[in-house]
Amino acid sequence: MARDYYKTLGVEPEASQESIKKAYRRMAFRYHPDRNPEDPEAAEKFKAASEAYDVLGDEEKRRIYDRYGEEGLKGAGRHDFRSADDIFETFSDIFGGGGIFGDFFGRNSNSGNRRKGRSLRVNVEVSLEDVETGSQKNITLKKKDICTDCDGEGAAPGTEPATCSYCRGYGQVEQRQGFFAMRTTCPRCGGKGTIIKSPCTVCGGEGLVNKKSEVQVEVPVGVESGTRLKMPGKGEPDPETGVRGDLYCDITVKEHPLFLRRGPDLVCNLPLPYSLAALGGTAEVPTLNSDSVEADVPKGTRNGDVLRLKGLGMPDMRTGKKGDLLIKTFIEVPQKLTRRQEELLRELSEIEGTHISPEREGFLNKLKEYVKTH
Ligand SMILES: [Zn+2]
Ligand SMILES: [Zn+2]
Repeated sequence: MARDYYKTLGVEPEASQESIKKAYRRMAFRYHPDRNPEDPEAAEKFKAASEAYDVLGDEEKRRIYDRYGEEGLKGAGRHDFRSADDIFETFSDIFGGGGIFGDFFGRNSNSGNRRKGRSLRVNVEVSLEDVETGSQKNITLKKKDICTDCDGEGAAPGTEPATCSYCRGYGQVEQRQGFFAMRTTCPRCGGKGTIIKSPCTVCGGEGLVNKKSEVQVEVPVGVESGTRLKMPGKGEPDPETGVRGDLYCDITVKEHPLFLRRGPDLVCNLPLPYSLAALGGTAEVPTLNSDSVEADVPKGTRNGDVLRLKGLGMPDMRTGKKGDLLIKTFIEVPQKLTRRQEELLRELSEIEGTHISPEREGFLNKLKEYVKTH
């Protein structure tokens, strides 16, 4: 489908280069991604306006477009914009220093783009107790920061970065191939537009130095191991633009000596004496972050039976609703007996010899069957 670039920019076909530039400035300002975050419609309009300006803002491409339409532009060095950064980079040199984006958004006058610094990733270990209540963790990380000696410029104090003579400070160079012009990043200054003759001795000209810094991480209630938290703007700055990358915190929940997390529930193994399991009663059960509670042990509790204590589990990350505490019983056989215990158990044993329990009765029946058939 043929697109009308004049309509896209809202200008007449006779419009001067100056008014085309103005129209694009206006649209770029209105639909700029910084002002319309997560608005796909604005992003589309920003891209469409940029594509239109790529053609109409260039007298040669415009001439071809006027004569042959969009078809004629094939191979005419049009930009294929894949991201907003592509757009900033492409038009930064057309407007030179302090161009359309520099004016509005305080971008660096040489690059005009939004280059961000490096993003970082750290592992953050938290305890199960931290997760139940949510907490703040201070982590120390080594990251690069703007060199205060040269303010990130990379030039030794008292000296200035010199304008690159190859690209005359534009950071890009134009290569003519017959009729058409192509722009590429300046090979001498790497697109910076400047050359540092005497580098800052502290940062070696990089503009960044290693620093230790402390970051406070908010541990969300109910967070699970493997969750990645994004902290925007907590990464390293770009020395030119000052725009910081992000910090990604990968959460690991440490193993707890008493509790195992199973979805929203906590599981705790609780040893019980045989007599308590048989007679029933109460057992003291530990909880996370608060005092222990008394749990009812029903008469006849078997080894491995699970007692459920409602609402004493973990909060859900999204709803905050708490799971349960599951007490898995473990009937302990005593390894050492007092004389009195032994007396009682022997007495019990005699009774068990005459009164056969249901499980044992079942077993004995199976054994009889087995002996008969073999
Ligand atoms: Zn250069
Ligand atoms: Zn420095």
